[in-house]
Amino acid sequence: MKTVYVDNNATTRVDEQVIADMLPCFTEFYGNPSSMHHKGAESGHVLKLARQRVAKILNAEADEILFTSCGTESNNSAIRAALKANPYKKHIVTTMVEHPAVKSLCESLDKEGYRTTYLPVDSKGRLNMAAFEASLTPDTAIVSIMWANNETGTVFPIRDIARRVKEKGILFHTDAVQAVGKIPVDARDIPFDMLSLSGHKLHAPKGVGALYIRSGFKFAPYLIGGHQEHGKRGGTENIASIVALGKACEIAMNHIDEENVRVKKLRDRLETELLARIPKSFVNGDLDNRLPNTSSISFEFIEGEAILLMMNEFGICASSGSACTSGSLEPSHVLRAMGVPFTAAHGTIRFSLCRYNTEDDVDFIIEKLPGVIKRLRDMSPFWKED
Ligand code: PLP
Repeated sequence: MKTVYVDNNATTRVDEQVIADMLPCFTEFYGNPSSMHHKGAESGHVLKLARQRVAKILNAEADEILFTSCGTESNNSAIRAALKANPYKKHIVTTMVEHPAVKSLCESLDKEGYRTTYLPVDSKGRLNMAAFEASLTPDTAIVSIMWANNETGTVFPIRDIARRVKEKGILFHTDAVQAVGKIPVDARDIPFDMLSLSGHKLHAPKGVGALYIRSGFKFAPYLIGGHQEHGKRGGTENIASIVALGKACEIAMNHIDEENVRVKKLRDRLETELLARIPKSFVNGDLDNRLPNTSSISFEFIEGEAILLMMNEFGICASSGSACTSGSLEPSHVLRAMGVPFTAAHGTIRFSLCRYNTEDDVDFIIEKLPGVIKRLRDMSPFWKED
């Protein structure tokens, strides 16, 4: 069966060149980089190169990069390190639309005696800047605000946010897991203290991530053990995956401009054609500030899960805007925070494209999806065409 994969914000296919760079790590560069012999030195060398490559995509210094096991670990380590660095401060600022890797951590910290402000967004998913300004207090230890939203693609004004946080002398972390590789990120231009990224969102494998830590910040390790990663994270380095992340960053950086234009054109055509062919459908998010690859579309009066299953019969892989919580289908916290009506939030599909998608993929979705929506609406007791 033909596969049309448009679920790249969930995870991506690993690039062939990335795999080619990984393979010698299993048979050649297998030494432990902490070892004193030549096999250790060889691994140390490829590790160093990977660190330089990841630093380059962020316009950062190599010694500002800490390798982790995933975006979730990067987020957890950053927030916990900020709290450790400010033991007398108990307040955290974040948003209502963060990924669970930040949101659930903050909810858990609230139970440990911290107090988190979850900033609201408007109907387009834009941050309420007045609420943001008002939230910063002398007790605030860390502000953690995502760069780009994984569900709608909405990009927050991170430069402005970071500068305002730093003016108050507060630590600023950004979850840039969906941004790195898709849009430019510059550590010299934007004063974030810490930034999270994840390999499997940019065509490296799952199970590797990185945390940018601005030099000068006294980072307390989250994983306590050996002296790996300059004492910032215990655990023998996952050399093959780290090499993969370095290569994936290099490829993404070299093609970011042309891919942005190409992928955005595909995404925009998909959106325009679907909206023209399917009544009672609309796009979610800030259409003026969005990742070029992401489109969240609500199809009113039907269930996203049913749409996904029927699309899957044609080989189309996407995501819904709902999460199955304790047996009941709850619309996503992101769409709820934006106030998307219940009847639309339930029927929301996220299409997220990548450099492997083609015009044919878009044509195929445009050909199949209107029929899927019509069939489901014909079965729905709530649907009436007016
Ligand atoms: N942050 C955002 C915005 C994400 O989209 C994701 C993954 O979907 C994560 C964090 C978690 O990354 P990982 O799967 O590498 O832990």
